[in-house]
Amino acid sequence: MKNTALAPDRKEAREFQTASTGLFFKVKKVLYEKKSTFQKIEIIENDFYGRVLFLDGLVQTTERDEFFYHEMLVHPALACLPRPEKVLIIGGGDGGALREVLKHPVKKAWLVEIDQEVIRACEKYFPWLDRALSDPRAELAIADGFDFIQKTRERFEAIIVDSSDPVGPSAILHARDFYLKLKKVLKPGGLIVAQAGSQLLHLREHEQKARFLKRMFKVARFYTAPVPTYPVGTWCYTFLSDRIDPLKIKKLRIPDGLKYFNQEIFLASFARPAFFQQALKNRK
Ligand code: SAM
Repeated sequence: MKNTALAPDRKEAREFQTASTGLFFKVKKVLYEKKSTFQKIEIIENDFYGRVLFLDGLVQTTERDEFFYHEMLVHPALACLPRPEKVLIIGGGDGGALREVLKHPVKKAWLVEIDQEVIRACEKYFPWLDRALSDPRAELAIADGFDFIQKTRERFEAIIVDSSDPVGPSAILHARDFYLKLKKVLKPGGLIVAQAGSQLLHLREHEQKARFLKRMFKVARFYTAPVPTYPVGTWCYTFLSDRIDPLKIKKLRIPDGLKYFNQEIFLASFARPAFFQQALKNRK
């Protein structure tokens, strides 16, 4: 669970908190507000973070710090693959993951987002989405990610799960069944990365996830990166494959012009603090 919104005075400020800690945004302007079939969508303007997208009151992306999250979601995976041709992104309606995927020489990238309204709002307020969708290699599908992978005949070298937290329409994207289905649409030698939540807040969930992921994949590693506007700061991702171990890759393929990701960050991101290692009972 991310931060819960408390908005005593919507024009002045919002407070986003867990039970006992939180993050505060001063609202310069409310740019967009709509309740879709799936969730409440809000975009505000903040002096420091610029435009900020919330879904059901939870921070999804901000103009100022989104590159931490999106670069670390996409490049550790794609930098490990010699020739990623087909890439599937599930969720990711703000477009940051798609923009990063298209920096690699992929042949085709699918963005499978459940909520058309998120796409509409983000196209207007986060121009990188519109640019990414205009790329001839990009294909948008408005669909539930779970349904999409059950129906598709495509097979992918990389699958990137850019879901929201495990509540509402995203809950299904965190479950064991979903990963079983993902594995079926993965090409041999392919890999999956997924955002997995806060390192400290979701420790128990990581423990549970690690248990089933390690049975399912020969390589199941957690890696982390800081994301300033996500609760407690350090965010987790999972790296899953039957053939590719990120720690054994000799040559990374890193596109030019990135702001966060590089070779040193890649290696460091797989380091585990003692409490995390203990929680995962990590053997690798
Ligand atoms: N980085 C983000 C985070 O953790 O805050 C995730 C951002 S992205 C906006 C998440 C997207 O996943 C949302 O736009 C949401 O509508 C979409 N989503 C949720 N459940 C989904 C599902 N079952 N299938 C496809 N997309 C889904």
